Amino acid sequence: MQAAPGVLWLRMPLPMALDHINVWALADGDTWTLVDTGMQTTDTAAAWQTAFPGVLCGRPVGRVICTHMHPDHVGMAGWLTRRFDCRLWMTRLEYVTCRMLAADLGREPPPDAVRFYRAAGWDEEAIEDYKARFGGFGKHIYALPDSFRRVTDGDEIEIGGRMWRAIIGRGHSPEHLCLHCPELALMISGDQVLPRITSNVSVFPTEPEADPLAEWLASIAEIASRVSDEVLVLPSHNEPFRGLHARLGQLSAWHEEALDRLREALRHPRRAVDVFDVMFRRPVGLSLLTFATGEALAHLNCLIHRQQAVRELDAEGVAWYRSV
Ligand SMILES: [Zn+2]
Repeated sequence: MQAAPGVLWLRMPLPMALDHINVWALADGDTWTLVDTGMQTTDTAAAWQTAFPGVLCGRPVGRVICTHMHPDHVGMAGWLTRRFDCRLWMTRLEYVTCRMLAADLGREPPPDAVRFYRAAGWDEEAIEDYKARFGGFGKHIYALPDSFRRVTDGDEIEIGGRMWRAIIGRGHSPEHLCLHCPELALMISGDQVLPRITSNVSVFPTEPEADPLAEWLASIAEIASRVSDEVLVLPSHNEPFRGLHARLGQLSAWHEEALDRLREALRHPRRAVDVFDVMFRRPVGLSLLTFATGEALAHLNCLIHRQQAVRELDAEGVAWYRSV
């Protein structure tokens, strides 16, 4: 459906509990500029094949922009850019990180990663499950094009005669792109601002000491200072919404409250896997373990960087956290 003049809202299916992703087709002269692409599945390919002669009126895709490198956003970018012989526009860290993760396909699970999850308190069953899944990222994306056009913070991108400003956020992914069009009072927010769920903010084995939550909170504050509260926000999941600043306030409050609860719980030393009940409302099974562990570690690392907690390794290499 039309979200604004020249801005079409399409939905692509996802094979998981979060069963859809929103993508955007912006009228751009005789072509379309697409923002995000869906995960690489036969269902997504079929949905695009229906859209080309249907809602997209047979006009070609002239450019593909991806907000970030997660498979539901970037999965069909390589397929679309090859099919229409057009360019992929992306931030550099998203493009490079995507190539890096895709290259894990077929590799042995690295000892660094096994050590990382053992330190978090995972048992052997969880470690074996991780080893079996390792490298799976590349299965969900069509191979990226071998070159891209870099987008940097503050860039003004002209689409269909209107200016869209690039706003970079961090914490959910390394260099996430949002697009703000003051003339249409729209912001395409990707996963940086979602209306009903909090975006995953995780620590991953490649950078165990990272503090993505600090980056996330700084990005939230920066978006509030740069984007007017008047915009209609076009998010990647659920529905477009108004009230950007109130939502940003809720998101940062949720994380600050989680940090407070965590600091309280760490009066007694705990492992990362012991704090799920403090952080999440639903129980964490094997399928959510990687996300939950990454998110718990993001909050634990944030407390360490704020000098409100310390981490100590025991003889088995398991990390115990306590507040100070
Ligand atoms: Zn994402």
